[in-house]
Amino acid sequence: MNAEAANPATPGSVTSGHVTPAVTRRKARPRLDLRRLGRAALLGPATRDRLPDAIGHVVDAHRAHHPDADLETLRRAYVLAESSHRGQMRKSGEPYITHPLAVTLILAELGAETTTLTASLLHDTVEDTDVTLDQVGEQFGEEVRYLVDGVTKLEKVDYGAAAEPETFRKMLVATGNDVRVMSIKLADRLHNMRTLGVMRPEKQERIAKVTRDVLIPLAERLGVQALKTELEDLVFAILHPEEYEHTRELIVRNAARADDPLADVADDVRKVLRESDIAAEVLIRPRHFVSVHRVSRKRGRLRGADFGRLLVLVNEDADCYAVLGELHTCMTPVVSEFKDFIAVPKFNLYQSLHTAVAREDGQVVEVLIRTHQMHKVAEAGVVALGNPYAAPPEEQSAGDGERVDPTRPGWLSRLLDWQRGAPDPDTFWSTLREDLAQDREITVFRPDGGTLGLPEGATCVDAAYAQYGEDAHACIGARVNGRLATLSTVLKDGDTIQLLMGQDPASEPSREWLEHAHTPAARIAIQRWLTAHPAQDDVPGPEAVAVSRPLRDDPAVPQAPEAAPGRPVAAQVLVDRAGATVRLAGCCTPVPPDEVTGFAVRGGAVTVHRVGCAAVARMKSAGRAEVGVRWGEGSECRVTLVAESFVRPHLLADLTEAMATEGAEIVSATVEPPERQQVRHTYTVQLPDAAHLPALMRAMRNVAGVYDVSRAQPQTPGA
Ligand code: MN
Repeated sequence: MNAEAANPATPGSVTSGHVTPAVTRRKARPRLDLRRLGRAALLGPATRDRLPDAIGHVVDAHRAHHPDADLETLRRAYVLAESSHRGQMRKSGEPYITHPLAVTLILAELGAETTTLTASLLHDTVEDTDVTLDQVGEQFGEEVRYLVDGVTKLEKVDYGAAAEPETFRKMLVATGNDVRVMSIKLADRLHNMRTLGVMRPEKQERIAKVTRDVLIPLAERLGVQALKTELEDLVFAILHPEEYEHTRELIVRNAARADDPLADVADDVRKVLRESDIAAEVLIRPRHFVSVHRVSRKRGRLRGADFGRLLVLVNEDADCYAVLGELHTCMTPVVSEFKDFIAVPKFNLYQSLHTAVAREDGQVVEVLIRTHQMHKVAEAGVVALGNPYAAPPEEQSAGDGERVDPTRPGWLSRLLDWQRGAPDPDTFWSTLREDLAQDREITVFRPDGGTLGLPEGATCVDAAYAQYGEDAHACIGARVNGRLATLSTVLKDGDTIQLLMGQDPASEPSREWLEHAHTPAARIAIQRWLTAHPAQDDVPGPEAVAVSRPLRDDPAVPQAPEAAPGRPVAAQVLVDRAGATVRLAGCCTPVPPDEVTGFAVRGGAVTVHRVGCAAVARMKSAGRAEVGVRWGEGSECRVTLVAESFVRPHLLADLTEAMATEGAEIVSATVEPPERQQVRHTYTVQLPDAAHLPALMRAMRNVAGVYDVSRAQPQTPGA
């Protein structure tokens, strides 16, 4: 449902209040009449001070959103663009100027401000004509120059090379300082996609894939739903022609039906709202093709109500909840479908209430409720937010970092931060793609009343970095919904999270956090720290030691087996003495692939220690002879593990149960007295298979309240 959160019709067709079935709407969609524009462009600008006919559509659309706009700049931009592109043709045979005009019209209809439109008219001049950037700057100012430069760079970047990390990185850098560059790029891509039919099929496919992988996710993030959904349908038609055709047939067949459940419910809703004196517009929003396709994949056979949704537009925020109340009182709500994207907005600017009502015949009708202003933003996203250099509107609170500066939405600033912080283009690219692929989002609440928007699957580690940035290195634990939880805990929509921060300024993130970090912000911050602190990082812990050299060169002494780090091979110890009883030392509890050595003890037994154990040094200095030992093909191992946890009821029971589930037999356990709400458990366990140790440690870490599990460090025995 989220992915279709803001199903588009073009703004014009919605505000008209005209109810049209999907198919006819698509035909009637107010698109640029290219032929007419082409003719007007061929005739050239009429007179010096009159607006050229060809730009009339743009001007009308622009005036509808900005009645006081200065049209002189637009006129000059058109004259320059038209004269410099004159003689150039598009592949379709039309004059080139039809393209910048069409792009500009798309933006004007979305409500873009004059500077964006000016740059949009000129967006291909520097790339394709004799006009230079300096000329653009001289005639239209630095802002327009910056935007044109950005689009020109993007043009070079994404044709044919969008999937390459370095070029994509450049693409974001070009956009970096002003998201309006991306708005123009999206409109440019939309027009190119609309007119892609003249290209060779392979080229169509390549461009469609880039659109799918890069431009559509960006449109989603920028909140430009109107562009996003049309791009989706265009890509769908090219990459999945058969499914597209099938979907089209479904829509056509549905439109031909005599009864329309959506229209019936719309009438019911109008009646309910009229009786309760709430001024509202009730419209039917046909789903776009991709949305119909998704729903049909999900539900199988489609019923009439599945082909669209109701949109209720009101004047005030509070009216949204009034409408919701009436619908939930007077109709049969499907409560599980209710979502409040007003109180808890998605971070791409989208705001709406979502609910659904059931008809007597069982058909469910989805209803979106929003104000006219929310609707404008839902359709046009950042494009509708106006001139970013103007004084910010009052409703933009500084408390919500995602909404303060429309030219640099929070995620874009973060992208640019990662771009600087990422160790290499590949890391950046892969994390970015993952981030863009994350359609679904969850919102978690902070105790101070604030919220954090996170991708689905995010953990407490992600929440910590989202809230504290690099200071999250000092995070020591978290409470989720009031209960202590491990940092690996996966958060759910609506959870309340309280992050527990340590006081030590030199706190270090745990390498293991990387496993639990899903957001690029967290992963890159942790990686950056690890890269910057190689000294600590490169000292291998006992689990990371690969036994790569023999204990000794003496052929009489058996050698330690080769073993990959973290992949214990066996736990049986073979000793260079027939019949010896082997005992693994309790002080350092060696397990494969630890480097080990042995000492004969009373009674002919051999005790096996890790070579780094303090006892080894002590016995060697006391003149005791070492006995060669190596790991054999056995299976069992005994190991001592330390679990650091927060104090909570049932911790001991939960931990021991988790260990038993992993097949560990607990040989001994000690629990130290808790200190500052933290407690340390030490377990010595017998494992049937040493290779299972990492899984056991993971299972223990996953117990709520446990924040670290490690192997016991070698100690001086008998101390
Ligand atoms: Mn272009």
